[in-house]
Amino acid sequence: MPVAEIITIGTELLLGEILDTNAQYLARALREIGIDLYRKSTVGDNPKRIAEAIQQALSRADIVLMTGGLGPTVDDPTREAVALALGVSLEFHPELWEQVQARFKRYERQPTENNKRQAMLPAGATAIENPVGTAPAFLYELQEKVIIALPGVPREMEHLLQNQVLPYLMAHYHPGVVILSRIVHTAGIGESQIDDLIGDLEGMDNPTVGLAAHSGQVDIRITAKAASTQAADQLILPVIGRLQERLGAWIYGLDEESLEVVAMRRLAEKGWRLVIVEAGTQAALIRRLASFKEQLASGHVLGSLPSEERLSELLHACCREQQAEVGLGVVIYPGSEKQDVRFLLLTPAGMQRFARPYGGPPQSAPRWAVNASLDILRNL
Ligand code: ATP
Repeated sequence: MPVAEIITIGTELLLGEILDTNAQYLARALREIGIDLYRKSTVGDNPKRIAEAIQQALSRADIVLMTGGLGPTVDDPTREAVALALGVSLEFHPELWEQVQARFKRYERQPTENNKRQAMLPAGATAIENPVGTAPAFLYELQEKVIIALPGVPREMEHLLQNQVLPYLMAHYHPGVVILSRIVHTAGIGESQIDDLIGDLEGMDNPTVGLAAHSGQVDIRITAKAASTQAADQLILPVIGRLQERLGAWIYGLDEESLEVVAMRRLAEKGWRLVIVEAGTQAALIRRLASFKEQLASGHVLGSLPSEERLSELLHACCREQQAEVGLGVVIYPGSEKQDVRFLLLTPAGMQRFARPYGGPPQSAPRWAVNASLDILRNL
């Protein structure tokens, strides 16, 4: 089995200012494709120390995966460190500079001379185009080994990993093997409760089963290795069946299906239209449903937090005015430790109340409240 090491770059990681979620994400992804991970290390923004870490990792592993330090400033040292470790110079790539300029133009920003650094690569490296950010990533092949440098921003790193790096690693280290992932989406149940119900499945080798929680919604990713896509799917299908047996109605969809599409499909099946009244949520529910013009009769954002009676009156009045069958009111009442999230649901059967405390990071409360609202609507 090929062996990998991860090096994450950034002084803020060393100082404990941010959590190293990239290393965790990379570790899970490597496991899914059958690459052994023997070491993870973190180095501050210092080219010499990073170069040393690269040399040590290369002496032990086949694949050195790095994240961070690819930005345009002098504190972004990864390109220089790889060049130092390999004893090569940095080269300017006009085609990369054009890509950086084009992306800045798309974001309606002006690149500075500093951004030119992002078009430099260690001599002999191959650029990995970065369509989701400005910093080009790169890989450096050395006979049987490879160094791969990815951006630090998690969203960019994950995109490049899934779309470019994992296919590259599969083709080079597991030729003839296909990796297939399918995702089972759940809502209304927490990660630890799912863990309790499917812990045995999470210990399997092929397919592997892993959880990813996203504010009120948990994804279960099932990944199989096989000689063909069809064979991989055959390994995955029985696991989906077992998840369905154990998690039942908590599952709302598979793969590309989103919670809002499933919830709005339910309304469409009933032939119902929806009125939303929200407060303390940064209009997050209305924004999430903005494209569902046929189902959304109207949306109202209140400037102050209403009492339950007031919210109920408003829902009745708005539903009458719009001749809508369903009214959903969502309010986040801030608290010192937990936020109190209240929902009122008006349907032809009457009014229902739900209260759910939310104890996660306050900035994620609107997203959590939206997912909880959509979970209520999909169960109409
Ligand atoms: P950019 O060009 O966008 O600056 P970069 O490759 O230079 O990308 P860094 O400057 O090292 O990346 O990090 C950018 C941000 O990404 C950091 O401020 C931090 O918020 C986040 N980040 C970096 N490394 C990690 C990590 N290992 N885990 C989680 N977040 C990270």
